[in-house]
Amino acid sequence: MKNLAILGSTGSIGTQTLDVVRQHPDRFRVFMISANSSAARLVEQALAFQVPHVVICNPEKYGEVRSALPDSVQVHLGIQAACDLVQAPEVDEVVAAMVGFSGLQPTLSAIRAGKTIALANKETLVAAGELVMGEAARYGASIYPVDSEHSAIFQCLAAAQGNPVAGIHLTASGGPFRSWSVQQIASARKEDALKHPNWEMGAKITIDSATMMNKGFEVIEAKWLFNVPAGKIHVVVHPESVIHSMVEFEDGAVIAQLGAPDMRVPIALALSYPERLPLDGKRLDFSTLKGLTFEEPDLEKFPCLSLAFDAIGRGGNIPCAMNAANETAVAAYLQGRIGFYDISRCIAGVMQRIGHIHNPSLEDIFATHREASSLAESFLGL
Ligand code: MG
Repeated sequence: MKNLAILGSTGSIGTQTLDVVRQHPDRFRVFMISANSSAARLVEQALAFQVPHVVICNPEKYGEVRSALPDSVQVHLGIQAACDLVQAPEVDEVVAAMVGFSGLQPTLSAIRAGKTIALANKETLVAAGELVMGEAARYGASIYPVDSEHSAIFQCLAAAQGNPVAGIHLTASGGPFRSWSVQQIASARKEDALKHPNWEMGAKITIDSATMMNKGFEVIEAKWLFNVPAGKIHVVVHPESVIHSMVEFEDGAVIAQLGAPDMRVPIALALSYPERLPLDGKRLDFSTLKGLTFEEPDLEKFPCLSLAFDAIGRGGNIPCAMNAANETAVAAYLQGRIGFYDISRCIAGVMQRIGHIHNPSLEDIFATHREASSLAESFLGL
């Protein structure tokens, strides 16, 4: 029996994690769940899974959660409570599924308690990859990727048997605007950007997929998780989302991981590795599969992807600034306050203006996040 702490339980990954738990009640118990402000869903989950510790981060929602739950459930307020609870001796594994930079602090807290991490929050590695991986090594915390591409790479790397990796082929669906012209994309409505062709995800990551910033983040995530230089990580657009990523070896052999697009597969593997749990859900049907296609990413249409490679090249606190600018710009885009290409313009502007720190401390990372967020707001006139 494994005790889980789920950071961001009401989001897309959190909800699907609980669906895996529901399918395997003999394997998992939920010790803690946390949400930013989705009070009603949090309460529903606490009752359904008999969760003893519930964290709500937004103080305005505390009363609603407290009054809806019996006294036997402990309701905690704020991010610090989440940081403390993930360190509890009862916790075996922490699912880091918060959105954005806000996931960094509680994830680091869990790492410093030596907990096993199922990592869905890629912004943690984008903003502070070197620090996070260093702390994981120091405290002996295992990190299992939940991101579908990284789970695929992780599975393919099992074939390495100590041999060096020649390259990683990171697949991308291309998002909803893959076949649109630059002019069409420029005037894309938020409703269009939120229609991902293959994956059902939260709003922030769906916009990141439409700009392909998500793929840029994933290159950085892969670099840190697997200790592979960015020059060996190639993005390949694969609209069918059947191959979730591939690893190439020095003899030219390429190992790929395939499956129907279903996030519960990587989630379950991150919870039970190396065991594979039976799961319901779609299976690949090779008798109806028409073909797998591949193309180069279009960097003119999707400037965020080049910005990510630029950020990796510059290193230090620049990826953190890029992430902060992106968070601010995507939130403004979702509020209908800016256009689609204002997102990449804002990120480029912030990356130019921010002071470059080559070896940032954790304090530098938090300061860069704050500074880049306010630079982004003034750049966008918010
Ligand atoms: Mg992904």
